[in-house]
Amino acid sequence: MASPLIETRGIVKDYRLGSHRVHALRGVSVTIHPGEFVAVMGPSGSGKSTLMNLLGCLDTPTAGRYLFEGEDISNCSPDRLARIRNKKVGFVFQTFNLLPRMNALENVELPLLYNGTLSRDRRPRARARLEAVGLADRAHSSGWPSRAP
Ligand code: ADP
Ligand code: MG
Repeated sequence: MASPLIETRGIVKDYRLGSHRVHALRGVSVTIHPGEFVAVMGPSGSGKSTLMNLLGCLDTPTAGRYLFEGEDISNCSPDRLARIRNKKVGFVFQTFNLLPRMNALENVELPLLYNGTLSRDRRPRARARLEAVGLADRAHSSGWPSRAP
């Protein structure tokens, strides 16, 4: 079998809430291979979002190890994490996290700017992605949710 895409070994995440410490994850070990389809389920407050933030390289664990494609990223710098996200991670957020001053097309295009895609290639690639998900007609809608129907 191919080597794992995602492998966590006893990852722990604590949040500090004033003088209080919240144990959001208490040692989670999970192995996910390329092509696997995995759902994380559990009651509200059980740590799903915390785990997704770690797996998605948005945050680093308090303890334990996280290997992404075999690379230990438990203690990665924010810059390195941003690079991994840009190249390897797709995230659909519960809140859209769109940049409000940009339209949909520009929002899709932005990661291509960061990864060094040539400017003449960015626009057609972004347009093709919007088309692929049936949003071609919304290309010029602003990032703000519209109030009018
Ligand atoms: P879920 O997504 O399953 O509802 P979360 O990962 O959001 O769970 O939360 C897990 C626990 O961590 C909860 O007790 C929550 O209150 C706490 N928590 C989440 N984020 C923070 C934070 N930024 N600061 C302090 N506590 C947090
Ligand atoms: Mg959640």
